[in-house]
Amino acid sequence: MKIVQIPLLRDNYGYLIICQKTNTAGIVDPSEAEPVLRRVELEKVTLKAILNTHHHRDHTGGNEGLLAKRSLEVYGHKSDQGRIPGLTRGVEEGDEIVIGEVRGSVLFIPGHTTGHVAYLFGNNLFCGDTLFTAGCGRLFEGTPEQMHGSLKKLMGLSDDTKVYCGHEYTESNLRFAMTLEPKNHKLISRFERVQGLRTRGASTVPSTMEEEKHTNPFLRWDSKEIQASLKAGSPGLRLDPVSVFATVRKLKDAF
Ligand code: ZN
Ligand code: FE
Repeated sequence: MKIVQIPLLRDNYGYLIICQKTNTAGIVDPSEAEPVLRRVELEKVTLKAILNTHHHRDHTGGNEGLLAKRSLEVYGHKSDQGRIPGLTRGVEEGDEIVIGEVRGSVLFIPGHTTGHVAYLFGNNLFCGDTLFTAGCGRLFEGTPEQMHGSLKKLMGLSDDTKVYCGHEYTESNLRFAMTLEPKNHKLISRFERVQGLRTRGASTVPSTMEEEKHTNPFLRWDSKEIQASLKAGSPGLRLDPVSVFATVRKLKDAF
């Protein structure tokens, strides 16, 4: 299996998942069709499927263009029937996805939207706008409880899981993280490394789940430093995981 990251629109990433035995591929979150088709041609593979993590246009905008000249399976959560263009396979937690001889599975992770899913292929996680590198998606349709539950589910994956998210947001996410946890040494060194990569215009995605656990403020509801930072702004704050998460999310919305 081979993964090809494709920069789309302003700061989106689509991902080709290629089965090298059969030269077939699936595309995760095609924001637009043309750059995907160019890359498919370059890789000399046949596109078989679209895997949408959620219904937002910046993740599904290429569906119609890709479907115009070929028939493809289109995967997305079953509740997004009518919201994901061309959906043929409504999936739910635990469903299997097959691309050639490559197998993956579906994780249901609502919060950013009510029908958000992730696709896990081996230790490669395609998580759309739920978990970002050093951040998480906004709660457009879900509750803090839901999003916290979804992030906790992803944290249960092994530390070496590679996090392939939907956007290049790492640098600004880390700038926010530094305001809450300025003494976290792993955070400081990640911020320096990421700034170096961005200066050269390089991608900062994927990260690993281990890195996220140590530096992503949306997964660090147990961090004493983050809790103290939040308490300074709202002394009455309860320190249970959901309240800490919800407060970090609110601060980021206004950052
Ligand atoms: Zn989105
Ligand atoms: Fe998005």
